[in-house]
Amino acid sequence: MTKTLHHRACHLCEAICGLNIEVSHEPNGHAVIGSIKGDPLDPFSRGHICPKAVALQDIQNDPDRLRQPHRRIGEQWQAISWEEAFSLAAERLWAVQQAHGRNAVAVYQGNPSVHNYGLMTHSNYFLGLLKTRNRFSATSVDQLPQHLISHLMYGHGLLLPIPDIDHTQFMLILGGNPLASNGSIMTVPDVEKRLKALRARGGRLV
Ligand code: SF4
Repeated sequence: MTKTLHHRACHLCEAICGLNIEVSHEPNGHAVIGSIKGDPLDPFSRGHICPKAVALQDIQNDPDRLRQPHRRIGEQWQAISWEEAFSLAAERLWAVQQAHGRNAVAVYQGNPSVHNYGLMTHSNYFLGLLKTRNRFSATSVDQLPQHLISHLMYGHGLLLPIPDIDHTQFMLILGGNPLASNGSIMTVPDVEKRLKALRARGGRLV
């Protein structure tokens, strides 16, 4: 068995912590993740990760993980191809909207869809075609005020300022708790240590 080490960034939140992923390769070609640890050489996250990144290997290696679409037929689940799944979804979504109106279809998006290139680049086209007003996401209970402020101040909801937490001497936080959010949308990994460092150099955190 051989082992390889892969340096990646965690895509689960905006803190983008650096990861060291050790993969074991069996002689039959099967590859299994052996461990996921923080990368101490990542200049940004400096070895920090949270439990979500460690648990990625459990998702990857889970024997019950769905690896292709399934269709429920009665009490049974039948594996189908992606082509069949896309066709079926398009056919049924169209039928529901034809019968009950555009708003009969609701959409929910969460963090995984924001950190996925395919969904980032294509989901808006899809949502534009659906034309439903029923769009839900974690954003509305999370960071929507921040998007509004960015829109009003900088002209775009995604122009989110990144606080220079490593050099400021005074940090004022309104309506947020970086310890709860793990410094997520601030793009500040290991926020707890950075806030302690701010105080240790005589800075103020309000
Ligand atoms: S803080 Fe965010 S980027 Fe860092 S390990 Fe956790 S989920 Fe991943």
